[in-house]
Amino acid sequence: DPPSEKYEYQAEVSRLMDLIVNSLYSNKEVFLRELISNASDALDKLRFLSVTNSELIKDEVDLYIRIQSDKDNGIISITDSGIGMTREELVDCLGTIAQSGTAKFLTALKESKDAGADSNLIGQFGVGFYSSFLVSDRVVVSTKSPKSDKQYVWEGEANSSSFTIREETDPEKLIPRGTRLTLYLKRDDKAFAHPERIQKLVKNYSQFVSFPIYTWQEKGYTKEVEVDEDPAEVEVDEDPAEVKNDEQQDLNSEEKKKKTKTVVEKYWEWELTNDTQPIWLRNSKEVTTEEYNDFYKSTFDQYLEPLASSHFTTEGEVEFKSILYVPSMAPFDKDDISNPKTKNIRLYVKRVFISDDFDGELFPRYLSFVKGVVDSNDLPLNVSREILQESRIVRIMKKRLVRKTFEMIRRLSDSENREVYEKFWDNFGKHIKLGCIEDRENHKYLGPLLRFFSSQSEEEMISLDEYIENMKPEQKNIYYIAAESKSSAKNTPFLERLLEKDLEVLFLVDPIDEVAVTNLKSYNEKSFVDISKEDLDLGELKDEIEEKKIKAEFGQTCDWIKKRLGDKVSKVQISNRLSTSPCVLVSAKFGWSANMERLMKAQAG
Ligand code: ADP
Ligand code: MG
Repeated sequence: DPPSEKYEYQAEVSRLMDLIVNSLYSNKEVFLRELISNASDALDKLRFLSVTNSELIKDEVDLYIRIQSDKDNGIISITDSGIGMTREELVDCLGTIAQSGTAKFLTALKESKDAGADSNLIGQFGVGFYSSFLVSDRVVVSTKSPKSDKQYVWEGEANSSSFTIREETDPEKLIPRGTRLTLYLKRDDKAFAHPERIQKLVKNYSQFVSFPIYTWQEKGYTKEVEVDEDPAEVEVDEDPAEVKNDEQQDLNSEEKKKKTKTVVEKYWEWELTNDTQPIWLRNSKEVTTEEYNDFYKSTFDQYLEPLASSHFTTEGEVEFKSILYVPSMAPFDKDDISNPKTKNIRLYVKRVFISDDFDGELFPRYLSFVKGVVDSNDLPLNVSREILQESRIVRIMKKRLVRKTFEMIRRLSDSENREVYEKFWDNFGKHIKLGCIEDRENHKYLGPLLRFFSSQSEEEMISLDEYIENMKPEQKNIYYIAAESKSSAKNTPFLERLLEKDLEVLFLVDPIDEVAVTNLKSYNEKSFVDISKEDLDLGELKDEIEEKKIKAEFGQTCDWIKKRLGDKVSKVQISNRLSTSPCVLVSAKFGWSANMERLMKAQAG
């Protein structure tokens, strides 16, 4: 036999394994979900690659996951006919921490510690392959990649800092392609190997895996067998209560002559345990909200229900089916608002998973929080990144997806329950404002989604439609003031005249607000007007005689002030915009507002 070689785990792996075991001890069953999800990923990879290279699939045409368990010995084996691993891949994938599931787990763990969340929460995250040690003393991974002519075996034990790799030599254990994981369960965890338990876990956690998952189940059927005359047994079979009359008595005695007995024959077989029809191909009328939510949670590793979902088919020029979701919470790494590579959209072509690694091709980056699946029949199966970027079909798809997203969010904002949209706005308002800056074409969809505090609504944010409803009959513009906070907005002298006239003023207190609004320019033909700018026109009739009088009276004062201040101001004017303050500093019409100035300074410094 070729000798087995010993390897040390990367230091972080050992630490991670400790963490997993310590934080998930009450939620051990997630191991099965993780291992099935790895098998499903491996099958996805194979199916995708085999589109352009049919050689890869020739050793085993069927794509499946099979789970066999031996409850007496506490052994579970999970076999997939996926892409498998070469020797190098075994070392890389199962000896280091570079993989996504585990990295995500670490972030979540850190966040949940900060937030004081309990460890059950962590169980909802993809923790990956190492979760197998939650329940196993020993794990054996035997795997055959189509890239290699040899099959290799990885072997590791719980609480060990090393693993071994050797070549598979036992002919009984050779597989045509793919991976077989064998778990030797810890003494206290042997119950997981009970076939019914496995079946239940698969149904619970992996019902939406798009490859068939078979579990090895014990079956029974009843059959009548003839038995030899045996008086003792006759008595047992007879129920005196049922003997009602002579006729029946006769029947019974006749039966006694050719005596049969019902027995249960036991046998084992592979049972299909999941539903492989993708949920997006089903008629939306027949899918329950719970099914949509479960699909979301299992597909995107989420533990919270989504805030909204939308299932639709588009027809015409380009046909595709899609389910989109708005999460109920911004991702843990909230700062990555501009990171478009979120693996949030899973693209399928004719049901074959193509990719979830997009960079703005299917969704603009400001909508990168939207999760979903898209299945197209119009794209080629061997679609490459270049094709995606150039494709007219993809451009049309993107346009439709964005519109559908706006509809979905709009429905949220129309909800009777204001809290629902407030939650959306808290989490994703920044994205919508970013959209106002980046996506001119969709301004008319973005505008209605905006929310602001105002001089008349300091506690509850209002929409622009609500603002317009509340406008004075003669009012033409939407007034706003940008400030650092609600209280500084409230105390600005610019407000005085407007408040006196009972005009509502939006308080733009988020740094991005003002940029968003200046990009929008107007909403429903009402221009946005910054009340701190020099030419603020409140639409009053000017009393020319009165004005002349005032100029005569204060003109010299203005000249004097300008002289004293010199270059510090560009001009000094008489204004009708103040009621109680004697003077105010304003920005020029085409200059930066004071708020913008503050922002620019903050960025420069
Ligand atoms: P993740 O799935 O997030 O990448 P895991 O810890 O679950 O992290 O898995 C680590 C890596 O091991 C996978 O990315 C994959 O490359 C490899 N792997 C795990 N299970 C299988 C399998 N059944 N077939 C092929 N490769 C696998
Ligand atoms: Mg995984």
